[in-house]
This record gives sequence, structure tokens and C-alpha cells, in this order.
Amino acid sequence: MSEEGKRLAELAKRRGFFFPSASVYGGAAGFYTYGPQGASLKRNLEDAWRDRFVFREGHMELEGPDVMPEAVFEASGHLDGFDDMIVECPECGESHRADHLVEDATALEEVEALPLDEVQDLIADHDLTCPNCGTALAGEPVEQFNLMFATNIGPGSSSPGYLRPETAQGIFVEFPQLKEYARNQLPFGVAQIGKAYRNEISPRKSLIRVREFTQAELEHFVDPETDSPDLAPVEDVELTLYPASEQTDDDGEHVTMTVGEAVERGVVGNEWIAYYLGRAKTWFERIGVDMERFRYRQHLGGELAHYASECWDAEAELGGDWVEITGFGDRADYDLKKHAEHSGEDFSVFKQYDEPKVVEKPTVDPEMGYLGPEFGGTAGEIADALETLAEKNPQSFEGDEVTVELDDEAFTVPVEKTGFSVEEVKETGEHVTPQVIEPSFGVGRLVYTVVAHALERDEVDGEERTYLSLPPEMAPTTVGVFPLMDKDGLGERAHEVAADLREAGMAVTYDDSGAIGRRYRRQDEIGTPYCVTVDYDTLEDDTVTVRERDTTAQTRVPVDELSETLQELRDGDRSLDDA
Ligand code: AMP
Repeated sequence: MSEEGKRLAELAKRRGFFFPSASVYGGAAGFYTYGPQGASLKRNLEDAWRDRFVFREGHMELEGPDVMPEAVFEASGHLDGFDDMIVECPECGESHRADHLVEDATALEEVEALPLDEVQDLIADHDLTCPNCGTALAGEPVEQFNLMFATNIGPGSSSPGYLRPETAQGIFVEFPQLKEYARNQLPFGVAQIGKAYRNEISPRKSLIRVREFTQAELEHFVDPETDSPDLAPVEDVELTLYPASEQTDDDGEHVTMTVGEAVERGVVGNEWIAYYLGRAKTWFERIGVDMERFRYRQHLGGELAHYASECWDAEAELGGDWVEITGFGDRADYDLKKHAEHSGEDFSVFKQYDEPKVVEKPTVDPEMGYLGPEFGGTAGEIADALETLAEKNPQSFEGDEVTVELDDEAFTVPVEKTGFSVEEVKETGEHVTPQVIEPSFGVGRLVYTVVAHALERDEVDGEERTYLSLPPEMAPTTVGVFPLMDKDGLGERAHEVAADLREAGMAVTYDDSGAIGRRYRRQDEIGTPYCVTVDYDTLEDDTVTVRERDTTAQTRVPVDELSETLQELRDGDRSLDDA
């Protein structure tokens, strides 16, 4: 583990952010508990996400179940294709993620994009060994391993179910209902924040790769023909991009350009994706992701998910590695088409034309009195084939005869017996299966990133100090309230101050134990942006000391202006100097 990773794991456990679950029983790899600080930081992050990607975009939100029946994942392709590469140690039996072993030992990236046999060869070529026991892995088969957790719904095994591997399918399967809520008007977006489960082969790096995690996903359903995003609010947002072309170039590097330039130069092909890259960049900044340690990386061809045509990942640098924190994909109409096919339900939206259109419609009306005696039992199928051919290729009917093929056998029919004609019909609209643009955020990875990027060290009064420079909006506690000492009525007054701040809607921690300096350090370590101290002057003039975390600067504020002042400080409408 990196130095940063170790420091973070220690702090996260000691101060109650996150730690491995059920450790009294030895735990199970890949499951984490959020302690009091972590749970509240995570909640703040989810609220900020909802604010940006639901409310401000005018999208809907839903909450589906974690367990879904097999049919859902048969249709979505997860049963067949949601796999990672596994290699098992012949000696100790431990399983490893084959592509990660190769990446750890070589300069190669995105090895999951390679075919299985190539990865097997790489393991042999580089003499890779089992990280657990050191046995050589050369020649061991590299296979696909399905990441879904299976269960049974109800008693017995007749009704298999799966823990959802992504929240997205819970939105797609409800599309026929959701389009009604959207009054059949594209575009519209549906978001969901919820748990996803993946039976990862080797969970690792704390919250980064776990088996149960929270996703915040948005499915934006758009008409691929006519809808385009309003890029104006994001066109000047600067992006750090790592396009596929740069990744495959030996001298490839990050390129910086605005959203507007990225679209104009075709670096980002899909305007909707470009829109969300812009929106998300500003949001990542808002929640405290360090922009010096951030980039958008385009997926390479072989790395694309089974459903996607263009995909970019937001990546954060953590402990020296680039880690995907959010995926932005164009899922096209893949999921909706699959669910329509498998369920037989309507996953399209009927798009009404402004005015009815008159269209030419080639049809046939075959003379069965001719086809029957001529072709016997196949006559019906030939009639159907003629109808399909008329729709697809009406020119075939221009000669005297027309030929259709059934099971490699050709049948020729005189055109006059097909009843071919071109009619004019009025159409009031058409069925459109929407294209789906999906920003998919990993909430746990974001929590980890925000804490890692906030982790700072400095020196205060000759002593080393660790603090989290979290944006106030993210901090689990907004204000720490301390009495200088718990005597002479200071404790009572401090309790009153704390109660008033809570009443004003702030997250407040009360602390009266130990020296004041120690209390500041405790709040610094959990990222509390402001501390308020009630001292003897408070009893005289009803003012308190407000101390700011990063600068440790202090100022005195009258108690009756305190909540307003803190709120303004928190929202960035005032600085401590003004106060
Ligand atoms: P994906 O569907 O694989 O693109 O995942 C979407 C998002 O979920 C990623 O950007 C990650 O932030 C997050 N994620 C995926 N797998 C895991 C995992 N095993 N543990 C934690 N977060 C994950």
C-alpha cells in the first residue's frame, strides 16, 4: 500500500470514517463500514450529487430493489458478459485478477482490453508469481469469472435472483412506466443512488475495490436524431483530457482544452458526454477533488463495455495510481432494445410529428389462389417474405418477376401475382428507442478521493498537525463548540451556543475534554472547518472566538450574529477577515 494509503487507512479507522466490516469475526474482504464521520461525509456527498445531477438538471429520481430476477440480467447481458479475468494459483489455490497482476508487474495499462490467451502469455513472459505464496503462474489458465452475486428468491432454487451489479438496470427495466411520468417527451433523465454488488476477484485498496458499494447513476434518455444538449453553460469549462490517441502514442500526454474546443475538434465525439464532462468537472471541484490530481481518460477500443460506443472515465490520482471514480458512457439504445426484445414490452417513445407526414408505403397483396397451388405449404412464408421485401427493397418489384429466399432456397413469383403497389399513407409520428447517456459515479471511491485529496500536514506552534481541508459542504461536522473550561458557567453557556447552532441547521460537535489545543487537533483531523470557543470574555461581552481550520486564524464574533456568520463563512459569502 502507498504511504498515502496507509496514512489514510489509519486516520479513517481511528477517527471513524471507514474501516473493514465485522473484524471481530475476521471480516470478509471487500466489505466496509462507514463510521459516524464517514457516513455523514458520504451523505453530504450524495446530497451534493442530487443537488447537481437531479435538481439542477430537472431529472427524476427513483429507488429500485437491490435483488432482481434472472430475466433482467439475461436481457442486459450481465449473465453472459459481466466477467473479469481470473488466474488461480496451483499451489495455494488463491485466485487473482490476471490483468491486474500483469499491470502491477509491467508498464502496461488496461490489460483487461486484451484477449485471454495474450494475458496468459504475458504472465509466462514476465515470470509472474502468486502474490500470496510465490509459486510461478506460467501456464496456468486465465479464465473469465462472472462478478454477479447469485441468490434464490423465496424457498427452493426455482427462482434465481442476483444482487444488481449496477443500479442502471433498475432504471432501464422500468422505462415503459418512466416514459409515462415524462409524458412521453424526450429528452428526460432518471437518476438513482443505491448499492451495487460485484464479487470482485481481489478486493483491494480500501474503498477503491470492494464487493458492495454505492453508485450514483444517471440515465439520460435522448432522441439521437433531434436532441442535443445546451453546451452554453459548460463550453468554457477547462478539461484535462487523456484521449485514446494520446494513450497509444509513445509520447502521448494529457491535453487541456475547454468543453467547447473538445467538441469542435472532435476530441469528445458525443456532445452529451461533453456536456456532462463539463458539469462534472465543476462538481468534482466543488466536493474537493484536487484538480492537479484529476483527468478524464477515454476508453480504448477493446476496453469498452459490451454496450458502449464512446466512454470517458474521470480518474483521480491516489497513492501514485490513476483510479476511475466515474464513468461517462454512451450506451446507445442497447439496454432498452434488449429489454424490449426479451420482455416483449414497448421500450420506445412515440414521437408525434408537428404535422402528419404523407409517406409512400410499398405493400403487397399476394394472390393466394396462385401461390397456394404453385408453392404448396410454403405459400404463407413466401407471402410474408414478399411483404418484408416490399418494405425493404421496393425496387425488386420493378421487373416482371421477383425472387425471395427462404432457407437458402429461391422462389420466383411473377410481380403481377404479388399485388405490389405503393400507397400514400398519413403518419402522425414514429416510435423512437432513445439513446442513453450515462454518467455513473462510484460514491465510495469519491469519498475516498475527497478524504485523500484533503489530507494535509503542516506545523502549528512548533508541532506537526494533520488536518483535512474538506470543503465545508462535505465536512461531517460544520462547527466544533468548546467551553474553555468546564466550570464557572462556561459549560452551560457553550451548551446553549451549541444548541442554538443545531437549531439553525448546522452539524455541531460539542467537546469539553482535554486541552483546547487537543480539541482543535481532533476537529482538524475530521475536517471541521470552524471551531467556536466560549471563554471568560463570553460571560462579559457575549462574544466567542471563531477559529478557521486551514489558516488557524481566529476572530471574535458576537453570539447573536454567530449562526449567520458561520453560515456565510460556510457558503463562501464572507471570509474570516470580514467577520
Ligand atoms: P463501472 O460500471 O464499472 O463503470 O462502474 C461505475 C463506477 O462504480 C466506477 O466509476 C467506480 O467509481 C465504481 N466502482 C466500480 N466497481 C467498484 C468496486 N469494486 N468498488 C468500488 N467502486 C466501484
